[in-house]
Amino acid sequence: MQAKKSLGQNFLVGAHYPTRIVASVAPQPNETIIEIGPGHGALTELLVATEANVVAIELDQDLIPELTAGFAGHSNFRLVVADALKVNFCELIQPATAARVVANLPYYVSTPILQRLIEHRACIREMTLMLQREVVERIMAKPGGKEYGYFSALVQFYCEAKKLFDVPPGAFRPIPKVHSSIVQLRLREVPAAKVHDEAFFIELLKALFAQRRKTIWNNLRASKGKFNCDEVTLRVALETAQLDPQRRAETLSLEETARLANQL
Ligand code: SAM
Repeated sequence: MQAKKSLGQNFLVGAHYPTRIVASVAPQPNETIIEIGPGHGALTELLVATEANVVAIELDQDLIPELTAGFAGHSNFRLVVADALKVNFCELIQPATAARVVANLPYYVSTPILQRLIEHRACIREMTLMLQREVVERIMAKPGGKEYGYFSALVQFYCEAKKLFDVPPGAFRPIPKVHSSIVQLRLREVPAAKVHDEAFFIELLKALFAQRRKTIWNNLRASKGKFNCDEVTLRVALETAQLDPQRRAETLSLEETARLANQL
């Protein structure tokens, strides 16, 4: 079957990488594992063999007959034909209340899918994801570096991130133009910085990073309407949080941004 570029289909071939990925998850019998994009089942086969309850979400209708034929005989396998950008993961896994996620994500939607998974953190404990190497670098980046941005801050606020290993283009068919890495994200019990209002903190992060090359002062001023406050209030909040208005968002630690959020 022809791989569909439009669905980010680069299938893992050979046993080496699927085995390493599933071994780093070490699924336990009866726990719930969500797999996004099972494709031809390279990871699914190993996941199902662990006796974990596997809920696989696949968007491509053309892959469904093969997946059904391959796994329908296993009572610990459930196939959901849906868009991972639209499903409610918490409803999907019921009666279970928590799951771990394993996925070789379609790269064209990997960041929105990851953001959606984070939104469902109430029922997700951990995610082991294959992503484009640059995306993993952004996730792992520290404040101050050029890779650090809104996405890094968002993921680090909610997750403890660990890069596991790289996967070369030759591990896939068709061979992608990009390199890949496996990252493991453990959802934190409480966010990495203490904030009064998480939703507000996220809105503030977005505003601070709205224009990367601008100072935090200029970015804040541009969205003062959104925060319903005037320039004097912004100045006072920055001063109380002990932040120089001329800094850029990528230099702020989560703790510093939290200090500012708690003043506004
Ligand atoms: N897991 C397989 C493997 O490792 O060989 C396939 C991985 S392939 C990179 C991505 C898979 O995600 C494909 O099967 C593709 O059809 C599926 N997919 C693409 N967009 C999706 C979406 N929005 N929701 C769910 N699955 C999607």
